[in-house]
Amino acid sequence: MVKDNEKNKITSNGMEKIVSLCKRRGFVFQGSEIYGGFAGTYDWGHLGVALKRNVTDAWNKAMQNHHNMTFLDSSIFTSGKVWEASGHVSGFSDPLVICNKCKEKFRADHLLESIGVKADEKLSELEINKIFDENRTKIKCPKCDNKDFGKVRATSLLATSNLGMLEETDGQVYLRGETAQGIYINYKNVLDTGFVSIPFGIAQIGKAFRNEISPRQFLFRKREFEQMEMQYFCHPNNAMDIYESWKSERMEYYKKMGINPKKLRFKPHENLVFYAKAACDIEYEFPFGWSELEGIHYRGDYDLTQHQKFSGRDMRFYDEETKEKYIPHIVETSVGVDRTILMILCDAYREDKLGEAERVVLKLPQKLAPVICAVSPLLKNKPELVEYANTKVYAPLKAEFGRVAWDDNGNIGKRYRRQDEIGTPFCIVVDFDTLTDNSVTVRDRDTGEQTRIKIEELKNYIKERIS
Ligand code: ATP
Repeated sequence: MVKDNEKNKITSNGMEKIVSLCKRRGFVFQGSEIYGGFAGTYDWGHLGVALKRNVTDAWNKAMQNHHNMTFLDSSIFTSGKVWEASGHVSGFSDPLVICNKCKEKFRADHLLESIGVKADEKLSELEINKIFDENRTKIKCPKCDNKDFGKVRATSLLATSNLGMLEETDGQVYLRGETAQGIYINYKNVLDTGFVSIPFGIAQIGKAFRNEISPRQFLFRKREFEQMEMQYFCHPNNAMDIYESWKSERMEYYKKMGINPKKLRFKPHENLVFYAKAACDIEYEFPFGWSELEGIHYRGDYDLTQHQKFSGRDMRFYDEETKEKYIPHIVETSVGVDRTILMILCDAYREDKLGEAERVVLKLPQKLAPVICAVSPLLKNKPELVEYANTKVYAPLKAEFGRVAWDDNGNIGKRYRRQDEIGTPFCIVVDFDTLTDNSVTVRDRDTGEQTRIKIEELKNYIKERIS
């Protein structure tokens, strides 16, 4: 069992308030919490599931806007050969270093970064050992302040499994380290269905697993996480233009989503892997600093060439018009669902004052809010108010929007605070006047402003406000 040391890591760097809100309100719970936790895993609660669905829906919708986009759901388990061909078996590793005193494990590149020394995680074991040795005397263990570390070792990020391994001669089986490989190995299947031709894309959302040395920053670096990946297959002549256009499209996507543009930036990769033609990250300024949110890569023909070599299958595309036969080039966009949600929560979290009262509020973009409105009878012990609120307000809104909550717990002030914390844009209250004027009070999350709305206009009012 992985020893849990998550708590120390997530409470640093100003993340503790978000972590605590997520647990308190049922967005995210620590994995295996009643057994002391299982590092790098988290469980999604009721509101987390809803937020996640809104995030994946938004991504799917953005991908669907491309007429030549297809979708795939490939399996988590694949032949071990897939990961040999992709280079993950030999080269998908992080540099591990262990503190000789407290035995805590760290990524050597992160320790070097902490003293201002740049060391790319993709450097060879020899290269990173050399840089680490040159800086040994300056590096302190973040846990116990000791300066005595072991040698740096490249440690595979691939999680292994014994599924299907019945004979010793069976090859190693892995849990997928990324969803992209499932796309590459199905590219010919998709093409052969005859619905698409070059250029086209394959988009996929699914779980990925990585044996991260030091899972940290809450949802940012997990061992089990979800990716939203899109691979665009194109002719080498226009692949660079396609890369540029995906770059702008993905940045615009986050801005339109309502993320603070000042906290988003591009970061070009300084050291390209040997096969890449161009690569950059979209970074977000998390409370712990600027960090990768999404990777956009022009990968050349590397992936398909590798699979052609290892599988013996012809991965070339035959263009009927030009009579040209070639291996398509690939432009990839790849982002984690969990990281996107962490960004959304960090961007939305506020502590402010409404009138005299201090509050915590999640100013979530309305389209992403897990609950779009909460309906409350002013008093829960007045059957006429409860009956009206339930049948004339809650039921029709629930049928229309789905994401509607019933909230009659505590006084109105408490209900508002609770709904503010989960980011509900509107709170609707049925009071005694409602019984005679058929109007309700709609309270706006961001301004606290209260408006009387006729119940027959309620649906349209909400629709307009969230559109
Ligand atoms: P990092 O440098 O942060 O480890 P990476 O460059 O290895 O990330 P990719 O392999 O390009 O990441 O994965 C694509 C995306 O998947 C990342 O941009 C990120 O959003 C997400 N992702 C990668 N690893 C994790 C993880 N351990 N936990 C959560 N999300 C992850």
